Amino acid sequence: MADSRKVGVLGGGQLGRMLIEAANRLNIQVNVLDAAASPAKQISAHDGHIEGSFKDASSVKKLAQACDVVTVEIEHVDTHMLEEVAGEVAVEPSWKTLRTIKDKYAQKEYLKEHGVDVAESEDLEGKGADGLKAVGERFGYPYMLKSKTEAYDGRGNFVVRSEANIDAAIKALGDRPLYAERWAEFRMELAVMVVKTKDGVLTFPTVETVHEDSICKLTYAPPRNVSKETTQRAQDLAKKAIGAFEGKGVFGVEMFLLKDDTLLVNEIAPRPHNSGHYTIEACPLSQYDAHLRAILDMPIPASALRLREPAIMLNILGGKTPDSHLKVAHKAYESPNASIHLYGKGDARPGRKMGHITVTAPTLSEAEKEIQPLIDFVDDQRG
Ligand code: ATP
Ligand code: MG
Ligand code: MG
Repeated sequence: MADSRKVGVLGGGQLGRMLIEAANRLNIQVNVLDAAASPAKQISAHDGHIEGSFKDASSVKKLAQACDVVTVEIEHVDTHMLEEVAGEVAVEPSWKTLRTIKDKYAQKEYLKEHGVDVAESEDLEGKGADGLKAVGERFGYPYMLKSKTEAYDGRGNFVVRSEANIDAAIKALGDRPLYAERWAEFRMELAVMVVKTKDGVLTFPTVETVHEDSICKLTYAPPRNVSKETTQRAQDLAKKAIGAFEGKGVFGVEMFLLKDDTLLVNEIAPRPHNSGHYTIEACPLSQYDAHLRAILDMPIPASALRLREPAIMLNILGGKTPDSHLKVAHKAYESPNASIHLYGKGDARPGRKMGHITVTAPTLSEAEKEIQPLIDFVDDQRG
């Protein structure tokens, strides 16, 4: 037994599942709080799991009582109970960090206060259609309307293209707490996984992310046609942003690289992140290994976060038929350098993250060549 401490995770989705894959290799028991057959629980047979919701205070308390360290794979959790139990069990990252980050507007105000550049934003809570119109006059069109809370995979975003679009925006998001962001004219999107340990802040390499309909589609490590100076600047900015928050673990930092090479932080995730999946095959330590080691105060050599080989990650989303995602996986079997991950989720709604594929190769162009037929196939399966 390498470690007798038990880790509790709020949430049992694919991130929890991949965290358990890493924990299993180290004999670390992970207790998951989520529904019975959640993806993470499927690969972890022991009686320490808790059945319930990570939004439910009593379930969170039950989990905390059964663990030495509590962490999250999703930020939309009950942070009040985490605050309450923080005296008895380690909560990593801090409940304060989770509370700030889970509200995207509060998160961005906090980043600004700490000298991190973000897109200009305006609070629209309670301001109705008039508020949206006034913001359109101030920011111009298009602008991005966003829900402050419960937002992921673009479910919570609406592009307001003109004044004529405001009714549709209200229809789509009107019952949620809203804010607006000025449109970022980005050249590309970059992301950095940051690791916060008891000793300091480390970073994985900078990657390029490609989103379609506000959902991550591809990750390129390293980014295409970006200078070393810029990738270093992105790592420095990510480090600065995460340095402003309390607690240990990995954090995903999404950024916009603007046409004039300026970097803005788009948003932060206080947990493993889609843009870090490539680390499983491409780096000596994955983001999941790093998260466990960080929250358990285990050693993390900085050079273990390096890129061993260029990599491209392609998400497998639910598509036009209920088995589209399985067809993509089958197609990938023919690809010699493709590592296929399926998440064990139930129904495949269009756009739902069902799995991913990572191709690594000695050069990025070789990886691009190998993954292109899979990208074409994914495009063909789109719902
Ligand atoms: P995630 O699944 O990463 O949590 P999310 O639902 O929180 O996503 P955002 O990260 O806010 O959504 O936005 C999703 C995508 O929409 C971004 O990656 C980017 O492509 C686009 N986007 C977001 N904000 C802006 C903006 N201000 N200007 C231009 N594009 C934007
Ligand atoms: Mg988000
Ligand atoms: Mg995002």
